[in-house]
Amino acid sequence: MTTEIAKTVAMLRDTFDSGQTRSAAWRKDQLKRLSRLLTEGEDELCRAMREDLGKAPAESWVSELRLVQREITHMLHHLDGWMRPDHVHVPVVLQPARAKIVPEPLGVALVIAPWNYPVQLLLLPMASAIAAGNTVVGKPSELAPATSAAVAKLIPSHLDQDAVAIVEGGAEVATSLLAERFDHIFYTGGARVAHVVMEAAAKHLTPVTLELGGKSPAIVDKDVNLDVTARRLAYGKFVNAGQTCVAPDYILVHGDVELPLLERLSAMVEEFYGKDPKASPDYGRIVNDQHFHRLQGLLDAGGYAETVIGGTASADPTQRYLPPTILRGVSPDAPVMQEEIFGPILPVISVPTIDSAIGFVNQRPKPLSLYVFTSHDRVADDVLARTSSGSACVNSCIVQFAVPGLPIGGVGESGMGAYHGRWGFETFSHRKAVMTKPTLPEPPLQYPPYTKLRQRLLRRIY
Ligand code: NAD
Repeated sequence: MTTEIAKTVAMLRDTFDSGQTRSAAWRKDQLKRLSRLLTEGEDELCRAMREDLGKAPAESWVSELRLVQREITHMLHHLDGWMRPDHVHVPVVLQPARAKIVPEPLGVALVIAPWNYPVQLLLLPMASAIAAGNTVVGKPSELAPATSAAVAKLIPSHLDQDAVAIVEGGAEVATSLLAERFDHIFYTGGARVAHVVMEAAAKHLTPVTLELGGKSPAIVDKDVNLDVTARRLAYGKFVNAGQTCVAPDYILVHGDVELPLLERLSAMVEEFYGKDPKASPDYGRIVNDQHFHRLQGLLDAGGYAETVIGGTASADPTQRYLPPTILRGVSPDAPVMQEEIFGPILPVISVPTIDSAIGFVNQRPKPLSLYVFTSHDRVADDVLARTSSGSACVNSCIVQFAVPGLPIGGVGESGMGAYHGRWGFETFSHRKAVMTKPTLPEPPLQYPPYTKLRQRLLRRIY
């Protein structure tokens, strides 16, 4: 396997060195082919995601296939502009001269993807790498094996095989890949593996982008449209059975509206998935037994006053089915509040003021996302100004991910670097500073010997 991987990376480097991936025409052609792959492979990919995660095809289309296609359309629309050099003013003392910033591709990129959105989180960073003129190898997650196999079959039949490659496998394969020298490593997943990735990258001084997770809070003010808030929160939390990196992990709700919010959240879950979510074709499953038992363990460990809906009683380990679960009266010390939940469990914590919600958030690591629901701009502005998070959304959640112009990434423990739209292009590009001077004139001011006259003149103009 190691030799195969070394061969693949060597081939990608040869292709990059040949210069074929640099032209705008090549980049656009590959992006269009990738977009076509998503149309032609829709049934196959949606079937695979249904198999891996119980994902409804409608959900897979919106949040995986179409999201990547829309990003590709955005890239195609803006690519010429992004590739154009930016001209920079040259100080008088250095004139005549021209200065510009030229974006150039980095070389061979590696994308390591997780299982929760197994198409989107693999192909979108790969599209960014291609848009920036790199060759790229993608490693899908072994925890979504059907999707991994489908992508590994579709990519070579649609894109240039000597420039874009898929290598399937788990940690062992990822380790072999990381032993190779890349020009950029783009990793999405948990923090534990991020340490491994960064250590491996350090050996070659390879820059990394780390798209990680964390506990993203949702703050709900007392003045708020509760129906809309509940619908958006329930969707953001329970889509993909809660296995979404930017899902609201927990809610901090103003005490005055805690009960009506809980009522509406429960009603909304029923509206989405019916009285028995297990029977709903639109409700997903937990990816594997290990995660199922981890989530069950969080619920069994207690530390909360009440299970408002769901819980382990109606869970079904044989199907890895965990119902949408809402917890009330949750202690900050409860196990469910100590780690990113990454499943369909929603702790709701009542707070006396928005100030205390801000304090709660600021005592914890910087989250990947933060959501605030309020009818007042000043409350939203205050929360945003006094907290730090990778991204934020006012009066909605998770949808910021679908805006191609927004840099999607974490801060602090939730990650480093960003992508989507221009930000993905920048991530996989080097900004080369280029200065061009005519040979003449050639004033001798800055050269030795540093005579008094030369120094006097230099000091006057510099
Ligand atoms: P993971 O960390 O287990 O796996 C991610 C990838 O790392 C897989 O391709 C896997 O094969 C690979 N991997 C596993 N062990 C490895 C090793 N020893 N060396 C190198 N690579 C290895 O995925 P996960 O932790 O289950 O993913 C969930 C996490 O990802 C959550 O924390 C979630 O919030 C985060 N996430 C973040 C984003 C984002 O955009 N920021 C998106 C999705 C998920």
